[in-house]
Amino acid sequence: MEFALIDRIRRRAASRDDVVLGIGDDAAILRMPPGCELVVTTDSLNVGVHFPRETRADDVGWKALAVNLSDLAAMGADPAWCTLSLTLPDADAAWVDAFLDGFLALAGSHAVALVGGDTTRGPLAVSVTAHGTLPCGSALRRDAARADDDIWVTGWLGDAAAALSQWRSGGECDAALRARLDRPTPRIGIGRDLRGVAHACIDVSDGLLADLGHVLRASGVGATLQADQLPVSPALGRQVDASRRLTQQLIGGDDYELCFSAPVAQRARIEAMGARHATPITRIGVVEASSGLRVLDAHGGPVISRASGWDHFADASA
Ligand code: ADP
Ligand code: MG
Repeated sequence: MEFALIDRIRRRAASRDDVVLGIGDDAAILRMPPGCELVVTTDSLNVGVHFPRETRADDVGWKALAVNLSDLAAMGADPAWCTLSLTLPDADAAWVDAFLDGFLALAGSHAVALVGGDTTRGPLAVSVTAHGTLPCGSALRRDAARADDDIWVTGWLGDAAAALSQWRSGGECDAALRARLDRPTPRIGIGRDLRGVAHACIDVSDGLLADLGHVLRASGVGATLQADQLPVSPALGRQVDASRRLTQQLIGGDDYELCFSAPVAQRARIEAMGARHATPITRIGVVEASSGLRVLDAHGGPVISRASGWDHFADASA
């Protein structure tokens, strides 16, 4: 199907030493490093659902890979290979070229080889599978949080949600916020460094409360978060008033930051890690034995929103 397009993709895709056979045969052949486990994840983006129709093709390409690399980062894996399934309304070579600009720029920056895929006709959709490797037994799993762990988050929360809300309201979209929505940064280096340091880890794709809730349930624990400690980017601080901001930080999705738990004894190492990666890593709460997720304001009172009833979150996540 669409051999000219596939050939275009093949010519631009970079390889790696451990790719025995890449694009062009019935399947790819990849060589695993000894002593490692294979980590596999897949995510699809559909036009109108996961990105607005007018999103630039290069941004779609970046994000399609970024959301998958973010999943590998959350496991602590080293990304290695990926496959790409493209469903296109027509064989638009210019669109595919622009798509590859974004996709391959991110792939190249993490030495990820595109080793295969599928190309079909239909409403625009992109599906990526990413493969990474991990020394056996070293994965950062969702079920490993323990009572008294600190809870940390990388980068900033709420930017993507704020950008989406600006875009939906038809107003001017702040460029820095929009970049965070269109070109999220998978925290690969931090994820790798968290092996042997963090207990549990997840990437924040559906919103902090939802995603941290998954970790807490899987681990059989609860948590308290400090609302005033959630990291606010300069752009978000400029653009959005404090009460809406907190909603976006707690329940907005698409930030692709890592949220993880770690023993108190690891604080200094984690702070050094943030400095090394030039990315803030912020302590936002603590894991507790009692189930549920509590969010406190700066005075230690429960955070309550008339709009969404945050006081019910403890029940919702129990
Ligand atoms: P098959 O019929 O064996 O599935 P295809 O014609 O679908 O073969 O694909 C031919 C080769 O091109 C395969 O190696 C496949 O992995 C690769 N390929 C097809 N589409 C893509 C794509 N969108 N990105 C990368 N590789 C692709
Ligand atoms: Mg095929």
